[in-house]
Amino acid sequence: MSRSDGEAPRFAIIGAGISGILCAIKLLEAGHRNIIVYEKGDGVGGTWHRNTYPGLFCDVPSHTYCYSFEPNPEWSQVFSPGREILSYLEHTVAKYGVDQFIRYSEEVTACEYTGNQWRLTTKLESSDLADFIICATGVLHHPHYPKIPGLEKFEGHIIHSARWDHEVQLENKRIAVVGNGSTGVQLVAELASNSKHLVHYQRTPQWIRPIENPHFSEEQKRQFRLHPELLQEMRRDPAFYQTVNDFSTAITGPESDVAWGLQEFLAQNLEASVSNPLLKEKLLPDHRAGCKRIVSSPNYYQQIQRDNVDTVTCGIREIDARGVRDNDGGYHRFDIIALATGYNTLQFMRPMRVIGHNGVDLNERWAKRPAAYLATSVPDFPNFFMMSGPNGPIGNASLIDVSEMQWEYISQLIDVVLDKNLKGICVSNSAFEDFEERRIKAAKTTLFATGCDSWYLDDEGVPATWPWSMEHFEVMMKAPILDDYDHFR
Ligand code: NAP
Repeated sequence: MSRSDGEAPRFAIIGAGISGILCAIKLLEAGHRNIIVYEKGDGVGGTWHRNTYPGLFCDVPSHTYCYSFEPNPEWSQVFSPGREILSYLEHTVAKYGVDQFIRYSEEVTACEYTGNQWRLTTKLESSDLADFIICATGVLHHPHYPKIPGLEKFEGHIIHSARWDHEVQLENKRIAVVGNGSTGVQLVAELASNSKHLVHYQRTPQWIRPIENPHFSEEQKRQFRLHPELLQEMRRDPAFYQTVNDFSTAITGPESDVAWGLQEFLAQNLEASVSNPLLKEKLLPDHRAGCKRIVSSPNYYQQIQRDNVDTVTCGIREIDARGVRDNDGGYHRFDIIALATGYNTLQFMRPMRVIGHNGVDLNERWAKRPAAYLATSVPDFPNFFMMSGPNGPIGNASLIDVSEMQWEYISQLIDVVLDKNLKGICVSNSAFEDFEERRIKAAKTTLFATGCDSWYLDDEGVPATWPWSMEHFEVMMKAPILDDYDHFR
C-alpha cells in the first residue's frame, strides 16, 4: 500500500458523479486514505446534480440503477424521478464517508505528468501532486446550444434542459420544446399537462419504447426493507437484462432477427398509440430503431395527442423576439423556449489540459477523435485512468454496472503499480493502435452506423461507443492483459 519512498499513494479523482463516488468508496474500502475528489459543481451526483428539469427520470429501473453493494428499499417508482437518484447518491456519499474527501466547486484545469507524479492545477489556482488520476468526468456534461437563426432575439425565457431555471413559472405558459432525444421526450411528457400551449419541435422523429412506471406501495417497501434478498433479485431484473442483451445483439447485428424484431415492436407501439394518421406519419422515423439511442416513455404518445400540444417536424426557420417560425411558414408565440438539444459529447474532460509523458498533449492525441484503450487508458499517460472514457458502452446499458466493471479493471492496474513498485502504467502504443483499428472496423458495422445522425458518432461519422457486446465488455473488464501495458520504472 505504500510507495518505495514509504509515502501512501495519493489518488486524485476528478468528478463526484456516479463513477467518481464509486471509485472513492472502493479506494477507501481497499484501505487507501490519501484521496481527494475534485468536483467542479457544488454538490455530488454529476449529471443528477446538474439535471433537474421537470419530468427527469432514469429509464433504467431504479432497483438496478444503484450500486450493487448499496441497494435501496425506498425507491418510489419502477423508474424513480431524478431528485430521488440524487438523494440516493448523497445518502451513499454520507454513509461511506466519502464527503470529507471531496473538494467542491474546484474545477481541475490541468494535469501534467512530471515524470514521477501528476501535478494538478485547479481553477482556484491551487495545485496538488498525485500518483494516480482517476478521471471520472463523464460524457454528458457540456450542454449543446443550437445555432438557430434569431435565437438570441427571443425576449422570453430560454432554458437548456441541463441548466434548468426553477425560478421560471411554467404553469399555463406557452412553451416550445426543441429536441426529442430522451430529454425532450421526458420534458414534453411532463410539461404538456399544465402548459397553455406546448409545441414540440422535432428535427428527426424517434422510436419510442413503451414502459410502465407504477409506484411501489408502502407494503412493498416494507418487504424490501425486511428482505434484502428481494432487493438483490430486483437488481438483477431479468426483463431489464434481457432488454440490454437484445440491444446489444441488435447493435452488433443490424440485420439480425432481434434488430428487426425490435423495430417491428416499436413500430407497433406507434401504430397502437397514435390515432391521427397525419401525426402518425410525422412521428414515424426513417432510420433504423437503435441507430439513435432508443427513447423510453410511459406516456409521451398520449401527451402529444392532447389538444394543447402540437408537433412540428418540418424544422425551425427562425426565432424572433416573440416566437418561432417553422420551415413551412407556421408561427407560434411563446413565453419559454426549452432547449433539449443534448450535449457536446466529444469533449470529455476538456477544456482541461492534460499533458502526459514527454510533454504529449492529450488534445493533440485526440486531434482526430477521442479514443482510449478499453475506454480507460491512453499511451503516454501513465496512471491516468478514465471511467467512461471514449469508446465505452454508454447509451443502452446501466452506467452503474459499466462503472463497477471498469473499477474492477482499473483497481487491478493500480495494484500492479503498487505491488511491483512501478512509477506508472499505461497502454502501449502498439496495443492501443491494434485495439483502435479493430474498434473502428467493428464500429462501422454496428446499428449506430446505419445512416442516422446521433451523438454516438465522432466528427468523421464513426460510432464512438463500444462496438461489441456487453458480454464482451464484461469479459474484458475482468482482468487486464498486462502485456498490453507499458510499465514505467
Ligand atoms: P440528444 O439525444 O442528443 O438529443 C438532442 C435533440 O436535440 C435531438 O432531437 C436533436 O435532433 C435536437 N437538436 C440538436 N440540435 C438541434 C438544432 N440545431 N435544431 C433542432 N433540433 C436540434 O440529447 P438528450 O435528449 O439530452 O439525451 C442525451 C443522452 O442523455 C441520451 O441519449 C441518454 O444517454 C442520456 N439521457 C438519459 C436519460 C435516461 O432516462 N436514462 C434521460 C435523458 C438523457 P436530431 O435528432 O435531428 O439531431
